Amino acid sequence: MAGFVIAHMYPDLLNLYGDRGNLLCLQQRMRWHGHDCRIKNIRLGEKIEYANIDMVFMGGGSDREQGLVYRDLAGRSDEFMARIEDGLPVLCICGAYQLLGTSYIAVNGQVMEGLKFFNFITRGAKNRLIGNVLIKACMDGDEISIVGFENHGGRTFFEDDTLQALGRVIKGYGNNGEDKKEGIKYKNLIGTYLHGPLLPKNPAAADFFLKAMARRRGVELDSRLDDYIEKIAHEQIKNRLLAK
Ligand code: GLN
Repeated sequence: MAGFVIAHMYPDLLNLYGDRGNLLCLQQRMRWHGHDCRIKNIRLGEKIEYANIDMVFMGGGSDREQGLVYRDLAGRSDEFMARIEDGLPVLCICGAYQLLGTSYIAVNGQVMEGLKFFNFITRGAKNRLIGNVLIKACMDGDEISIVGFENHGGRTFFEDDTLQALGRVIKGYGNNGEDKKEGIKYKNLIGTYLHGPLLPKNPAAADFFLKAMARRRGVELDSRLDDYIEKIAHEQIKNRLLAK
């Protein structure tokens, strides 16, 4: 039995609309595979021992919380980026996704510098993009559907054509409500606007992270999980959205 550790960064600041459910889902699925999985909370200023971490998770937050987190993360961005390049599994939701870009221009005009990992910009607007979302994505070579819930004022625009979106919007708004792109995917990192939480309703996306964590440790996940109930939840929301 292996023991995995997922770092939950800023749990008291970034955690909206059930984001923490993603961690519970990963932890439980790892246990069903016969391995232990611990969640390690990392708060402002707390050091991350990357050698002991298998994945990083950051949830969404309001503009105020984002500002606090930006300042803290900026001081440790080089090492974080090096780990992402090295294939560290990372899931960033909404506000945390926005901070991976060059900047976030809030609706009041205030500019928050992003971490500049990726060349995309987010501009705030008064009317928020809210509702259920359905996207098509490619995960471990298979085309899959992903469902979730979005609620964001920020519109994210890629300024580099080589950036790969997580998926193509079928229903909902996605990155900006205009270009049909949703989220970003880079190596084992996923940034997305999908709350909900994302992973319990999309077991294929959860497995993307489990497999990446296991591969990096040389561990085989040899059991297949019974996703009967998860698939019903996924199909129900998908069909409801397609019927609209
Ligand atoms: N403050 C950001 C926005 O409204 C992020 C919100 C969120 O994380 N849900 O765009």
